[in-house]
Amino acid sequence: MTNGLTIGCHLSTSKGYEAMGKTAVEIGATTFAFFTRNPRGGKGKAPDEADVQALLRLMEEHHFGKLVAHAPYTMNMCSAKPDVVAYTREAFASDIERMEQLPGNYLNFHPGSHLKQGADEGIRLIVEGLNQDLIPGQKTIVLLETMAGKGTEVGRSFEELERIIEGVEHDELLGVCLDTCHVNDAGYDIAHDLDGVLDEFDRVIGLDRLCALHVNDSKNPLGAHKDRHEKIGQGTLGLAAFQAIVTNPRTKDLPMILETPNELPGYSREIAALRALSEGRSLAEAEELLEEPEEPEPAEQKKAAESKE
Ligand SMILES: [Zn+2]
Ligand SMILES: [Zn+2]
Repeated sequence: MTNGLTIGCHLSTSKGYEAMGKTAVEIGATTFAFFTRNPRGGKGKAPDEADVQALLRLMEEHHFGKLVAHAPYTMNMCSAKPDVVAYTREAFASDIERMEQLPGNYLNFHPGSHLKQGADEGIRLIVEGLNQDLIPGQKTIVLLETMAGKGTEVGRSFEELERIIEGVEHDELLGVCLDTCHVNDAGYDIAHDLDGVLDEFDRVIGLDRLCALHVNDSKNPLGAHKDRHEKIGQGTLGLAAFQAIVTNPRTKDLPMILETPNELPGYSREIAALRALSEGRSLAEAEELLEEPEEPEPAEQKKAAESKE
């Protein structure tokens, strides 16, 4: 990769695909995330083919990396309610089909919450759902997200993710998206021992599965099992942790998605700061780039991402 970091944030699909690409370019991004459908459920419409083609052209022109789409949070592959499981399998299958219009990109999802059925039953249901939904030969790689372990979340440890991967027949279609806030909250000390965490990931899952990062600071201490994202440099991880991530040979070339509590101007600053660090500039310089202006930001620019978990 000669184009520097592949980095972006979560964007709203409300104006279509090419519009997301244009917004990404405006804030200095070279990838982005988006919900494959309305996060609060519903069908959502299939993407317009001309709009998709326009986005693909824009991505090529601006040397984008892979996109990291996000399945909505209303999905739960391992719910205790059979109707939720059935809805999730159907919705996820149609999201994979939609992503095939943008071949070669990622579709990330939260494995689910087992709701007191126990992790074993949760993993069994997730494996069964994936075996039903994945299409042999599909061009979309499905990513399991590392979770904070809030409530009954499955995916709170690398071991749980590996058990899912092991159970899936077409595991060549699976990868992992590591969320820096989630792994901290799950108890992996990514802030002080990035290489140790990556070694552990490699031992349990294999680093060849590590496809993307959610780059978030955390409001909570190591092992809190909370999942509250913080702006880069303002949480318990701190800016130096992100300097390590954007310079480490095992992570620096992965697509990085910011899911921090920000509007577009804030994302633009975080992208600039992380790019600076990746180019060897100092923490002090990056801190300066992160500084919020005194003036309130223009209202029309406050197009928030729909949600950031
Ligand atoms: Zn995430
Ligand atoms: Zn989260």
